[in-house]
Amino acid sequence: MKRLAILGSTGSIGKSTLSIVEQFPERYSVAALAAGRNLDEFFAQTVRWRPGVVSVATEELAGELAGRLKAAGVTGIEVVHGSEGTVVCSTLPEVDFVVSAIVGVAGLEATHAAILAGKPVGLANKECMVAAGEILMAAARKRDVPIVPIDSEHNAVHQCLRVGQHAEVKAIWLTASGGPFRQLPLDEFASITPEQALKHPTWVMGRRITIDSATMLNKGLEIIEACRLFDVPPSQVRVMVHPQSTVHSLVEYVDGSIMAQISVTDMRLPILYALAYPERPASSLTFDMASLRHLDFEPPDFDRFPCLRLAYDAAEKGGAHAIALNAADEIAVEAFLERKIPFNGIPGTIEKVLASTPESHPATIAEVLASDREARVKARALLV
Ligand code: MG
Repeated sequence: MKRLAILGSTGSIGKSTLSIVEQFPERYSVAALAAGRNLDEFFAQTVRWRPGVVSVATEELAGELAGRLKAAGVTGIEVVHGSEGTVVCSTLPEVDFVVSAIVGVAGLEATHAAILAGKPVGLANKECMVAAGEILMAAARKRDVPIVPIDSEHNAVHQCLRVGQHAEVKAIWLTASGGPFRQLPLDEFASITPEQALKHPTWVMGRRITIDSATMLNKGLEIIEACRLFDVPPSQVRVMVHPQSTVHSLVEYVDGSIMAQISVTDMRLPILYALAYPERPASSLTFDMASLRHLDFEPPDFDRFPCLRLAYDAAEKGGAHAIALNAADEIAVEAFLERKIPFNGIPGTIEKVLASTPESHPATIAEVLASDREARVKARALLV
C-alpha cells in the first residue's frame, strides 16, 4: 500500500489522481491533501478520503474548513495552511509518495522538502523543474530519490528511456499538438482573442496552460523540463508538431532506433505510471490500435511561435533566465486574458524581460523565489 500526499488535489491532475486511488484501493491510500481556495470541493474530498492532514491556502480558510468538518462530525483530521502547511503534507513520516500538482512556483518549497525527506515524487508541476530543476535534481540524485514526470511528454520519454542507457541517447523528441493556431496566417496573430486561444484541439486543461499551448511557450517550458529531468543539453531536445497527440514523445538512440510511446490522451495513464513505477498495473485506459490509420508530423514554425526560440535561449542560459521565462509568461498571459495586450504581446513581453535579466544561477529555493518575484516585477512594469 502506497500512502500518498497529493499537493493540488482540487486541480485537474489532483482529481485524476484521486480517481486512480478510487480504482486501485488495494494499492493506494490518501495520507495528506493540499489545495488552495476551492473550499467546497476540498471539503468534499476531505470527507471522502479522511486523510490525516489537510492544507489550504490561508489561516482563514483553514478555520472555515475545520468548522465545517466539526459541524459534519468529521474528527481526527489536522488542518494546516499556507506554504508551511503544504510542506507538512509533503514531508509527513507516513507518506510514501508525493504527487506534486500545484500550479506555478507555489508548489516549489513543498516539492523540494519532499525530496529532502527522501519521498519519491510524481511531478505534474513543470514550473518547479523549469525554475529550480538544477537544485531539485541535484537533491534527488544525492539522495537517490526518484522523480517520475506526470507531464504526458516527459512521462512518455521516461518510458522510452527505460530501453537504453543515458550515453546511448541521441535526441529526445517532444511532440506538440501545435495548438489552435498551427495553420492561422501569420498576419492574423495580432487579432487573436482570448476566447479563440482558450479552445485547445486535443486536451482540456487549465487556462494558463491552454494559452501556453497556443503560443507554444508550454512546449518551451517542456524543453527546459526535459533538459533538467533527463540531464541532456537543449541541443539534444527537439520538438515535432503532431496534431493528433497520439504519440506522446519519442527517444532517438545513437544506433538509429527511435522509441515512441502511444496511448490514450488521458492524464490518468501518466499518473498511474508514476504512482506504480516500476510496475505496470492492468488498467482500462486502453488505446484502440485497430482504428489508428495515420499519424501526422511536421517541424514547428519558429516564426509563428517565437516562444520556442526564447525557450531554447533560456534553456541554454539556465538559472535566472529559465525562471524569468516562466514568470514573465505567467504575467503576460494574465494581461492577454484581461485584454491588456495582444496575443503576440506575450512573446514580446517575455523577450524584453529576458533581455534585462543578468545571467545568474540561484543556489537555494529562496533565491529562486526572489528571482521569480524580480522577473514578475519587471514584466508588470512593461505592461502598465
Ligand atoms: Mg505536456
